[in-house]
Amino acid sequence: MTFAELNLNPAILKAVTACGYTNPTPIQQQAIPIVMTGADLIATAQTGTGKTAAFVLPGLQRLTTPSAIPGKGPRILVLTPTRELAGQVMDAARTYGRGMRLRCGSLLGGMPYREQLRLLSAPVDIIVATPGRLLDHLERGSVRLDRLEMLILDEADRMLDMGFSEDMEKIVARAPETRQTLMFTATMENSVLRLAQKMLREPQRIELAVRTASHELIEQRLHVADSLHHKKELLRHLVSDQKLTRAIIFSATKRDADDLARELTRDGHPAAALHGDMNQFARNKTIERMRRGGIRLLVATDVAARGLDVTGISHVINFDLPRFAEDYVHRIGRTGRAGASGVAISFVSSSELSYLERIERFIGKRLPEQNIDGLAPLTVLRRVSSGNNARRPGGPGKGRYAKSSGGNGGRNQSQGKSWGGSAKPGRAGAPGASRPQRSATHQPVIEYRTRRAEAMKNQP
Ligand code: AMP
Repeated sequence: MTFAELNLNPAILKAVTACGYTNPTPIQQQAIPIVMTGADLIATAQTGTGKTAAFVLPGLQRLTTPSAIPGKGPRILVLTPTRELAGQVMDAARTYGRGMRLRCGSLLGGMPYREQLRLLSAPVDIIVATPGRLLDHLERGSVRLDRLEMLILDEADRMLDMGFSEDMEKIVARAPETRQTLMFTATMENSVLRLAQKMLREPQRIELAVRTASHELIEQRLHVADSLHHKKELLRHLVSDQKLTRAIIFSATKRDADDLARELTRDGHPAAALHGDMNQFARNKTIERMRRGGIRLLVATDVAARGLDVTGISHVINFDLPRFAEDYVHRIGRTGRAGASGVAISFVSSSELSYLERIERFIGKRLPEQNIDGLAPLTVLRRVSSGNNARRPGGPGKGRYAKSSGGNGGRNQSQGKSWGGSAKPGRAGAPGASRPQRSATHQPVIEYRTRRAEAMKNQP
């Protein structure tokens, strides 16, 4: 299918061609014709699939005919969970709508009101907003939705996760019944379907095989880490690779993001942090520096990186695994965008095994484990097959993964099925540590330890 076959206005087609797009992506092929009929739509599509254009293009098509209703309120409203995603949608609307005379802008929390009020003082075509700030404007009476023709809930699942459910309902209650509503979500969870039932009318449904299909070009792998120190050693090694041209490193906390960015910069790798404690100006500046190549490594938390669209990300590194499997998919979708290949590397420590289990269940495959010479873990993780009744010592107590304490090695070996492993041999004599039994199960551990010790000896 070509873009020309989608019956888009020539000005929109020209802008799409100028972007260098040759064919619509699968979500665009399926969604655009449905949206152009005026029907409501619920679609599972993750970032990186071209979902923004899937709603922006038919939205622009609608704007080629003038509004029949007088007033100043927006004709199209896009709600997004984060300011970064809003920025990306706004950029897309401006890019694809460059051949049209449009008034559009964003209403985002954390940004000054003055400019937003100026935007709302004249008729506006497209508004991209985060729910809290839009509701604020609605309640102050600075914006009305009586001209609204199209409402788009982008990353609706994420908005629910972030507690925007009530705000969304209040906003929708002020929108005209005649509107068209589109909902994009990474998953069709029950909470999302309930929201759709309240807000959409007889929606058409598109479910792309999103969990893995969009990530075929991403090489995913796993490194077991013994400790925070070990994670940092692994990271230092990975970022020294010349093939890593631009990377996003995900950390669990804002503080870790700051600390890691500082340490990497100190080691001679230009890095910056991106997290929710930074004001919008600082975040935009950082993203722009990344886009321009001023920094090679961005250390981010999930919320801050949501919707981030920087091209040419060669690697995503999960310094800490995300707690929610969906976030894993969102994170790795930062690389391998628009047909390019990418590498997604995750570190897992013993305290993160339950997260790993969730992720692998969600993506429907196991992440292959890899070791780096000289940095192989002392901890060995083995998989516990489902249906195995073996006690899983030392691990999180549930799920398919367990990190065994050394004393159980022999038992695991006889069961032959579990993720077992050893306590760190180097600490076997420490108070409270169990002494590993030397059995065949532990052979790899001994080898790892030797290799690592030798590598350390060889260091200047
Ligand atoms: P999205 O899923 O909307 O975040 O889009 C991911 C990336 O794909 C963005 O950088 C878009 O510019 C790009 N993109 C969108 N549609 C196409 C297309 N049809 N062909 C090539 N790239 C595209």
